[in-house]
Formats: sequence, structure tokens, C-alpha cells
Amino acid sequence: MSIVNIMEGFVQDKIEEMIANESCCKCERCIDDMKAIALNRLPAKYVSSHNGELFSKLDSMIRQNAVDINIAVAEAIYMVAKRPSH
Ligand SMILES: [Zn+2]
Repeated sequence: MSIVNIMEGFVQDKIEEMIANESCCKCERCIDDMKAIALNRLPAKYVSSHNGELFSKLDSMIRQNAVDINIAVAEAIYMVAKRPSH
């Protein structure tokens, strides 16, 4: 795949980091649900994987907006923990 939404990687990392201390279910299905909810609330940031310059630009831009990602991920975890889909 040559086009990636780099927001996905950030959300994935953040979910793993934030649920480590939660007592919620951490199965693949719940994590996928959390990822989908969080990503729907965040703007997609697509980049072609061969464009390294653009990638690092977006990377630092997203790191500066880490607060928005934290909020979206925290809400997604809360929603799935409260009502898991299984
Ligand atoms: Zn689960």
C-alpha cells in the first residue's frame, strides 16, 4: 500500500498506551472498535509512503495536536469499555 493515513498509527499507539492502566477489555475486537471511533472523530492525514518530507512534516504537525488525539482516544475507550460489542 502506497497511501497511508498516518493518524492510524498515532491512534493505535495512543490506545495501547492509555488502556494499559484501564480495567477494560483489551481484545482485538474492542481495540478495533476504539480505533474506529477515535479515527472517525479525527481528521484523516493521508500521505504517500514514498514522500518522506511530507511524512515528517505531518508527523510533527500531528504531535503538536496530541491533545485532540488524547481526547478522541479517551472518549473512544470510555464508550467501548462501557458497552463492548460482545
Ligand atoms: Zn473485548
